[in-house]
Amino acid sequence: MTRQKELLRGAFRGLDGEVDRWLDELGTTPGFYFDSITQLRMGTWSRGRVTLVGDAGYCPGPAVGGSTSLAIVGAYVLAGELARAGGDHERAFAAYERAMAEHVRGSRAVALSAARTLVPTSRFGVSGLVQATRLLSALPAGPGRAFLRLTTKSARVHNAMAVEDYQP
Ligand SMILES: Cc1cc2nc3c(=O)[nH]c(=O)nc-3n(C[C@H](O)[C@H](O)[C@H](O)COP(=O)(O)OP(=O)(O)OC[C@H]3O[C@@H](n4cnc5c(N)ncnc54)[C@H](O)[C@@H]3O)c2cc1C
Repeated sequence: MTRQKELLRGAFRGLDGEVDRWLDELGTTPGFYFDSITQLRMGTWSRGRVTLVGDAGYCPGPAVGGSTSLAIVGAYVLAGELARAGGDHERAFAAYERAMAEHVRGSRAVALSAARTLVPTSRFGVSGLVQATRLLSALPAGPGRAFLRLTTKSARVHNAMAVEDYQP
């Protein structure tokens, strides 16, 4: 953790007064979190009597939106398919993977495009993001909301996920 904090200071110190202030907090904050944004892709999520749900099986990329929706939809579909198959896990797991495939594909695509937009890869990009965020908070409510609507593709995609109405 100490090394991670040093990495951050080395990469971002001097970028902007506000960023320097955040970096100063690193010395005292009890809530430090540092991780990569990773998209998980596997050919199958099931083996034997075990299957994976949510991030463990198909994390589209944390912090870029929607992974929680996907995990909840996955849990619902798995429960529904297990009930429908009368507990026959082989049939249920195969049906679960089929039913989730399209949702996972859509979520991955949204996550990749969000990561490209939201995660800068250069000092220039980081600086641009800080300035754009500052500008956004200075905009009047109307134009600000209109701009934010452009960035809510993830919410739209996840809201539109259709699932079966499994009967008990
Ligand atoms: C910084 C950050 C920001 C995010 N922002 C968003 C967002 O804005 N919108 C969104 O939709 N999603 C967001 N996510 C993603 C979201 O948190 C995850 O997609 C979601 O929590 C996945 O749920 P899950 O149940 O699959 O896994 P988790 O919530 O990770 O649950 C797994 C659980 O298993 C436990 N566990 C692990 N190993 C073991 C073990 N061996 N034995 C027993 N228990 C174990 C863990 O402690 C944990 O409680 C974000 C994630 C991060 C990291």
